[in-house]
Parts: sequence; C-alpha cells; structure tokens
Amino acid sequence: MRLPPLPTITEIIKLYRLSAKAQLSQNFLLDMNLTDKMVRCAGDLSDKFACEVGCGPGSLTRSILHAGVKQVVGVEKDHRFIPSLELLANASNGRFIVKHDDILKFDIEAAFPLVQKRAWEDDSQLCLIGNLPFNVSIPLLLQWLRAMPIRHGPFSFGRSTMTLTFQKEVAERITAPPNHSQRSRLSVMVQHLCDVKWVFDLPSSVFVPRPKVNAAVLHFVPLVVPVLDVPFDILEIVVKSVFNFRRKIISKGARLLFPESPDLVSNLFSMSDINPQLRAQQLTLEQWGRLCTAYAQLRKDLM
Ligand code: SAM
Repeated sequence: MRLPPLPTITEIIKLYRLSAKAQLSQNFLLDMNLTDKMVRCAGDLSDKFACEVGCGPGSLTRSILHAGVKQVVGVEKDHRFIPSLELLANASNGRFIVKHDDILKFDIEAAFPLVQKRAWEDDSQLCLIGNLPFNVSIPLLLQWLRAMPIRHGPFSFGRSTMTLTFQKEVAERITAPPNHSQRSRLSVMVQHLCDVKWVFDLPSSVFVPRPKVNAAVLHFVPLVVPVLDVPFDILEIVVKSVFNFRRKIISKGARLLFPESPDLVSNLFSMSDINPQLRAQQLTLEQWGRLCTAYAQLRKDLM
C-alpha cells in the first residue's frame, strides 16, 4: 500500500509556499509518527473508507493511505492546498479523492457511493478522521451529534466512528464525568450518544506553527442505543438553558425554558424529582433524562 515517491510534506509546503492562515485554524502536524499514531487509534482501516476533515499539506492523509484504507475523501476549504493534494490523489491509484469544500456544508452521504449502508447494530464501513481546525471543531461535532439519532450524513452508513483532535480544554469538556469542573453541555450530549475515549495528548509543540494551546485526540464510537430515551432537540435545549449559568443553582437556568410561565420551573423539578439547588455539573445522565422527560411533558401540556 506504499505510495509512489512524492515530495515530502516539508518540500510541498516550500514548493507551494503554503504559509498557515490563522483564520482557518491552520496548525499542521508534520511528524508522520504522530499522524500514523492517530490513524492507528481509528482501528483497522483495511476494509474501511475514510472522510478526512481539512487535509492541509496532507501528512495525515498519507498516514490514512498507508494504513491500507480502501478510499479516503479529503475535504479542504483552502484552495492553496488543492494542487498539492491533487498530486497525492494522482499518485494514489484512485484511493484518494480531494474535494475543495467546506466540511460544514459538504454532503458526506453523496461522496461515498461505494460504502455499504449497514444496520445500526453493525460496524460502519466509514470512519471520520481529522486534525480539526479549532474554529470548526464544536459546530462540526454538534452537527454530527444531531445527525446521529436521525441516521443522516456520515451516519446514514451506520455507526461511523470519529477520530478527531480538539483543543485540550474542549476535549476535557467533552469527556468530563459528572462532578468534574469541566462538565458541560458537550459532555452530556456526547456521552448520551457515544462511547468517547481520550486517546492521547498533542502538546502545542508538535504543531507547525505552534498554537497557544495544547490539544488531544479523541475517539468516538456511536452507541447502539443512546443512554437516554429523549429526543435530541429536547436534550439540546434543556442542557443549553440549565448550563447557561454554570456556577448558579440549576433552577436559575431552568427559568430560560419557560420564559412565558416561570411558575412551571418548580413543576419541572418536582416532576423530575431533582433538587433545584444542585449545580449543572453535578447532574448524572440519568438525571438529565428525567429533566428532559418532565420538560417535554410540561411543554406538551402548554400546547
Ligand atoms: N490535516 C492537516 C494536518 O494535520 O497537518 C491540516 C490540519 S489544520 C489544523 C486544519 C485544516 O482544515 C486546514 O488545512 C484548513 O485549511 C482546513 N479547514 C479549515 N476550515 C475548514 C472547513 N470549514 N472545511 C474544510 N476544511 C477546513
């Protein structure tokens, strides 16, 4: 599965004068040991297809190809990288396709006509990989979380896994258990839908140019059955409101759920049997589930 001789990534950067652009969060991983390590975390790729977010100069793309993937589609927004990525595509014998597009608008389902649509219980043939641009990481993760329960986009093929980089502080917010200082709406929404693992740290020194913050690689496997039996839009609105005043008791944020009828806040807590004096970080997933069920019921009664 080796690629034919190609200029090195450092030569590509010089050849095409590819300086990093801050507004596209361009912090490159040029050490192929690290990109290989990241790809190993995605599991055995020999029978898989991959969608890579933001290929940049292409080091992670090369590692994905070396891992023997059937095909990788790389989505890159910055046109300056396209010629060098096309060079790689031409050398890949059809295994790498580059798309000049914005990942937040890109139609992943249409980009993989060869990927089988598998039952949700089975492993998906598609995996999502990316050294994510930091400014896109949270909107993209939320978009993919919303797509999961309705089996849209990458999840139309089944339980596609995700191996992605995040700023370390965001990675902490995603993985934090209840009572952790970083517990957030992201922890609740992700852990409701996925088994998420912190795979390794990426100190700022490994990126070129060096960003101000450290990063980490996370691996997500969508759960066969989500933890809570509640619609995702209800969970999203409840966690957003209740986490709005992180340091205050949860009844303060819960008022945002009933702007027209604030007296319903006490019903919400009595129906869900949750102490309104708690802080949002303290709630377990099971308690979030009870809050959501009570909220959905109260909303229905209001209609
Ligand atoms: N994968 C390369 C690496 O590891 O060296 C580059 C990673 S760099 C952190 C993020 C890449 O995503 C950049 O190449 C940037 O141009 C690209 N990018 C930024 N926003 C994007 C978007 N909305 N859609 C697709 N690519 C984007």
